[in-house]
Amino acid sequence: MAIISCPSCDKNISSQSDVCPHCGFQRDEVAEERLRELRRRKLRDRVYQLKMASYAALTLLIGAFGWYLAATGGFQYRASAGPYILFTVGAAFYLVIRVYLYKFKAALRKLNT
Ligand SMILES: [Zn+2]
Repeated sequence: MAIISCPSCDKNISSQSDVCPHCGFQRDEVAEERLRELRRRKLRDRVYQLKMASYAALTLLIGAFGWYLAATGGFQYRASAGPYILFTVGAAFYLVIRVYLYKFKAALRKLNT
């Protein structure tokens, strides 16, 4: 008897049981394949949303730069803290998105193999 993870809820179950005791998932080939396809589609949606969010973050960075230029009038005066804050927030936002994007893409690759 081996321990495997339930394809539906990822909890450990016995390879001998046909029904997951945690979520009630019925284990059979068709259901598992359908579930894999569903997960694949969900992950693809998440990757798409994250890409859109990363473009939004880049827009923030460009906006911060434009604000900086507008505020300093071509680098003549020191800008207020506004553009720096916006830039920091945008950069942090972007980095977090990239980390999630990497994770979801890795999960998607695992599902596809
Ligand atoms: Zn389960």
